[in-house]
Amino acid sequence: MGDNGFLQRIRIVLVGTSHPGNIGASARAMKNMGLSQLVLVNPLEFPSDQAVWRAVGAADLLEKAQVVSTLDEAVADCSLVVGTSARGRRIPWPVFEPRRCAEVIAKEPESSSIAVVFGGEKMGLSNDDLHRCNYHLTIPVNPEYSSLNLGAAVQVVCYELRMKQLELLKSEPADEMDGWDSEFCRADQMEHFYEHLEQTMIDVDFHDPDNPRQLMTRLRRLFSRTRLDKMELSILRGILTNTQRNASIRSSQPKGESKNI
Ligand code: SAH
Repeated sequence: MGDNGFLQRIRIVLVGTSHPGNIGASARAMKNMGLSQLVLVNPLEFPSDQAVWRAVGAADLLEKAQVVSTLDEAVADCSLVVGTSARGRRIPWPVFEPRRCAEVIAKEPESSSIAVVFGGEKMGLSNDDLHRCNYHLTIPVNPEYSSLNLGAAVQVVCYELRMKQLELLKSEPADEMDGWDSEFCRADQMEHFYEHLEQTMIDVDFHDPDNPRQLMTRLRRLFSRTRLDKMELSILRGILTNTQRNASIRSSQPKGESKNI
């Protein structure tokens, strides 16, 4: 393990930030704690002098920050995505506080890229954004005033990640995922899987896209908890493909014929 170990594999993703000063403050918080990958999704104003001013000695993180237009792009190659939010949502997701989250992140295999996603100052992350995450992270603050400044939230999370890293450097405990025989799926592979699953459910008349209820959200939550590896995903995709093929064969047969098979 290098000096910074897993910290180097973590990217901080800021979605729809409205105040460039908060981008600078986040970069500073990250560099203080040994993180360096910053990704900005649709920032209102960037590049910005105010961001550079607030970053102080961490302006290098701003220079190499990646700017993209969707969260999907920002996390496509990540196998673990954590979304941060001050509030609970209608369909609850597995929620951690930062210390527990750092433990989970530290257990990710070395081949994994990890994203921690933060929302904008006005609205936070949308439900759609949060449904793209494996886990949610809430900083357990005063329930009567639960929303932190964005830069402060980034600071708290990065601090806990650093504390975990320092603990690991002192004692390297055995990892229960050591020797796993397949890599975990990336976010873009999971998105393709969800599209395939939804289409298959439509093909077999299980799912009505005009009346979706919360079906896809609940299935996303199920698979997010499971953390599929690539081999498992390819088995599931194979099952879906055959299900679709058989559904289309049956629907093209004259009625009653299938009873004779
Ligand atoms: N007004 C928004 C909060 C925006 S704060 C709302 O009510 O949702 C900007 C971002 O900081 C949030 O999207 C989240 O990423 C982070 N944040 C703020 N407070 C937090 C908390 N208590 N726990 C986890 N993240 C928090």
